[in-house]
Amino acid sequence: MQYETVIGLEVHVQMDTQSKAFCGCSTLFGQPANTQTCPVCLGLPGVLPVLNEKFLQYAIKVALALNCKVSNYLKFDRKHYYYPDLPKNYQISQYDMPLAEHGYLEIETENSTAKKIRVLRAHMEEDAGKLIHTSQSSLVDYNRTGMCLLEIVTEPDISSAHEAYDYLTRLKSILEYLEVSDCDMEKGSLRCDANISLRPVGETKLGVKTELKNMNSFKGVRDALEYEVIRQEKALNAGELIVQETRLWDENKQKTFTMRTKEEAHDYRYFPEPDLPPFTIEDKTIETVRKELPELPAVKKERLVSEYKITEYDANVISADKYIALYFEEAAKEYKSPKTIANWLMGDIMNYIHNNQLESKKLAEILPVKYLIEMLELIDNNTISGKIAKKILPDMFTSGNTATQIITEKNLVQISDTSQIETIVDEVIQEHASVAEDFRNGTDKALMFLVGQVMKKTRGKANPQIVNDILRKKLGTT
Ligand SMILES: [Zn+2]
Repeated sequence: MQYETVIGLEVHVQMDTQSKAFCGCSTLFGQPANTQTCPVCLGLPGVLPVLNEKFLQYAIKVALALNCKVSNYLKFDRKHYYYPDLPKNYQISQYDMPLAEHGYLEIETENSTAKKIRVLRAHMEEDAGKLIHTSQSSLVDYNRTGMCLLEIVTEPDISSAHEAYDYLTRLKSILEYLEVSDCDMEKGSLRCDANISLRPVGETKLGVKTELKNMNSFKGVRDALEYEVIRQEKALNAGELIVQETRLWDENKQKTFTMRTKEEAHDYRYFPEPDLPPFTIEDKTIETVRKELPELPAVKKERLVSEYKITEYDANVISADKYIALYFEEAAKEYKSPKTIANWLMGDIMNYIHNNQLESKKLAEILPVKYLIEMLELIDNNTISGKIAKKILPDMFTSGNTATQIITEKNLVQISDTSQIETIVDEVIQEHASVAEDFRNGTDKALMFLVGQVMKKTRGKANPQIVNDILRKKLGTT
């Protein structure tokens, strides 16, 4: 039987505020355990929470960027459960009246068509602490308790692991543009759970879903979903029933396994948070935040295409990363060919950043825009070949020197002096007389070999076009 996949995602984003959601404790990452706590976030009796205004502002920003309707009425609820990382035994969250609802995020499917993934709701809540399990014992760190979280829940509109991955990538990109979260999955600033079920094609009723947890990267989410599609499909085809359960992703084994079954709707005994009376969010507050929204990736992409005449594909890749996009625009304004800038950025530069695990945020610092442009101009005026440029680029990154400094130091200036090249070509023809003969007899690829030999003798410095021309001339084919 043919099945279709139905996926919904729940993403928790830690907002990058200086202090926690309802107290003044610092949110700095990596501090000694339990040093960033106070009576409020430890849930001691007699304390009162006070809402962090920045938290609300950031949350509204995200909601608007996701095209949500922001509620005019802000209400918090207590969600009760008992767990060692939750000292109050309840979490301040939002239950029946989330901050925002009915938004969407446009993604791209496998066939590169646009698709809107509806955002069901986005609500504000506080984070719990962190349990650290060792072989001997379990420890608890309350530094994270009370940090600002925004939970963003989609409708079950996602139809494949690819779409889920694209949704997450675009969501992260938007959050980075908004500067509301560092989106670092390793630090836990971005966490994603997924609900997935299968149903026969054409069926409208949803199948039994499993909830996937413990994915620590977007790739992990994609792999876990891919695995789960196959697992459920096999089970359904074998006539087995899918049980509603929570499954954990095992990164090493690349498998999901059961964490707990017989999942029932939890009774969290929600009730309105009595210490935080509801209040009105004025339209003008929402509109002020809306006006402060930066140009978001989707809009930027369109503008890059029309303004710099680069392809949709290039604009998509470049606009996905705020810092790469900034770098691109700065360079493209100063240099005649935006397409060349795009190629270098998307090729060698992004590869270098990726392979060396650098942050794109640092790019303009490590490789100032004017250094890149200077290098491109050296290619344009035949001082160096594109090949040499590729070779010296890593040096530019590590040394902080300009291309001119590096090529002078390493004696890499391109040889365009024809008489000098002619002498070397003569040598090569003499040394490889039979290959030269092959070329004369019509074996085209023989020329490639001879060019290669000249480049070798000049350590890649000869201007390849001139080498080509001289060889053809000397071998009598022009
Ligand atoms: Zn505190």
